[in-house]
Amino acid sequence: SAKSKGRNCYLFYNSDITLRTTELFVLENSLYYALEKQEFTIHYQPQVNITTGKIPKMEALLRWQHPELGLISPAKFIPLAEETGLIVAIGEWVLRNACAQTKYWQKLLGLPSLSIAVNLSARQFQQINLVEMVQQVLTETGLAPECLELEVTESTAMKNMEFTKDILTELHQMGVSISIDDFGTGYSSLSYLKNFPIDTLKIDRSFVQDLTTSTHDAAITTAIITLAHGLNLAVVAEGVETEEQRNLLLVLKCELMQGYLFSRAVSAEEATRLLKYNKLRLTNSKSCLVA
Ligand code: C2E
Ligand code: MG
Ligand code: MG
Ligand code: MG
Repeated sequence: SAKSKGRNCYLFYNSDITLRTTELFVLENSLYYALEKQEFTIHYQPQVNITTGKIPKMEALLRWQHPELGLISPAKFIPLAEETGLIVAIGEWVLRNACAQTKYWQKLLGLPSLSIAVNLSARQFQQINLVEMVQQVLTETGLAPECLELEVTESTAMKNMEFTKDILTELHQMGVSISIDDFGTGYSSLSYLKNFPIDTLKIDRSFVQDLTTSTHDAAITTAIITLAHGLNLAVVAEGVETEEQRNLLLVLKCELMQGYLFSRAVSAEEATRLLKYNKLRLTNSKSCLVA
């Protein structure tokens, strides 16, 4: 009957919600212990300078290997870490490890100016000692502030705008670089670009994806590159996957690129091999191709 159907529908709907809530609860619960249980690792993705073939910078990307659920995407657990405030401790762990790893690469591979980009969440600006924490990590690891770039999204920059600007300015005065991640996707006015201490714009992957097939995306990408050049900022294209995208970006004078065409985010060990190989290749051939 209609009545029992209705009841079934209700039950199905209800259990679906319960399931999702349970899953979130399980995730949240294990996220509390993930740090001490050493379930996090950092993967690294190179940023490539297409004209020189060099890798000036790596981006640190967090990975969570859950003992039962397997590898969990940051898209799933970073929002949870933000909601619970756990991102403050996790973020500090990422920064410390990524800076130490970069210092190690600089010495081991003879790459003294290799830099590291680390993502910062909005929530991390609410911690009272963010600037001191960054300073302490740099001192501890011996990494020069000039070799650290902090990535923030437009929405992070817009949250408590004056406060966030002050903190970014302090970090910038220390010598740390600031980049705007996923540029073009946030709800923000462009005016913050003149008041914030920004060094780099990262063109969001969504624009790069259809760059060669959509005139709209090509127009937006061109505008971002022109804007960056006009403001004397560096510009990086995210999510470059094809030769066609690479070639068009080069014509548009965007030299810095990041994406699967060059490398996925890989383990520290694999990244060591990649950096070593790229340096060797450059010394031997002086060619401008990238592995
Ligand atoms: P994001 O900072 O914009 O990082 C770029 C994301 O795009 C990474 O996903 C990267 O693996 C992926 N990607 C790079 N090249 C390509 C490509 O050519 N094609 C495709 N399809 N994807 C590409 P990932 O590692 O899953 O990270 C997702 C997001 O999670 C990051 O976006 C960042 O917002 C956040 N995240 C990652 N690690 C951290 C962290 O340590 N702290 C914070 N606060 N957020 C993090
Ligand atoms: Mg990023
Ligand atoms: Mg991004
Ligand atoms: Mg993103």
